[in-house]
Amino acid sequence: MSATPDSLVTFPIMEHFYTIQGEGFYTGRAAYFIRLGGCDVGCTWCDVKESWDAGKHPVLPVQDLLEAAGKFPARFVVITGGEPAMYDLGPLFRSFKENGFEVAIETSGAYALSTFPDWICLSPKKFKSALPQMLQKANELKVVVYHESDFIWAEAQALGVGASCKLFLQPEFSRFDRIVPALIDYVKEHPQWSISLQTHKIIHVP
Ligand code: SF4
Repeated sequence: MSATPDSLVTFPIMEHFYTIQGEGFYTGRAAYFIRLGGCDVGCTWCDVKESWDAGKHPVLPVQDLLEAAGKFPARFVVITGGEPAMYDLGPLFRSFKENGFEVAIETSGAYALSTFPDWICLSPKKFKSALPQMLQKANELKVVVYHESDFIWAEAQALGVGASCKLFLQPEFSRFDRIVPALIDYVKEHPQWSISLQTHKIIHVP
């Protein structure tokens, strides 16, 4: 029996849309976002809890996503979730790359990837640890700061990444006013880190 062509492989898709990347290294860049359903990481402050149950989302083939993304001029796709690395993303990565897209993923690092995109934004979570091999592969480490004590935890995560990995600290949005002053002080004292803000929530794009 022949294997299913990449373009016909299906994934549970919560939403997909053309927007501006709001946070991290590629902040401000036009991108097609694909949000996969399914996550078992369980962050208490998660702002996309609707994504957790994969069964609540339609299952779409890669070719539908390619066609939708291809209607827009940017050739940059961000695979997010949920926790997209719960799935074998090879067919998705390969199809988009073959069609001229640069491919990025947003992941907690709790699951190993068997195929790699062009850019891995790893946002580790206390609720389910990032795998050491995923930390090593990260192009960008983005730690969400909910409490001042998270700075110590962020430094422990940073010990696991490679030398070229970009380091970001991002205030948890509901704690923005409380955390940002501490964040500013911390980054001024530890300039290997940069601040990442969820600018999409400021400019009101999804
Ligand atoms: Fe929510 Fe992401 Fe945490 Fe999953 S990993 S619970 S989607 S914040």
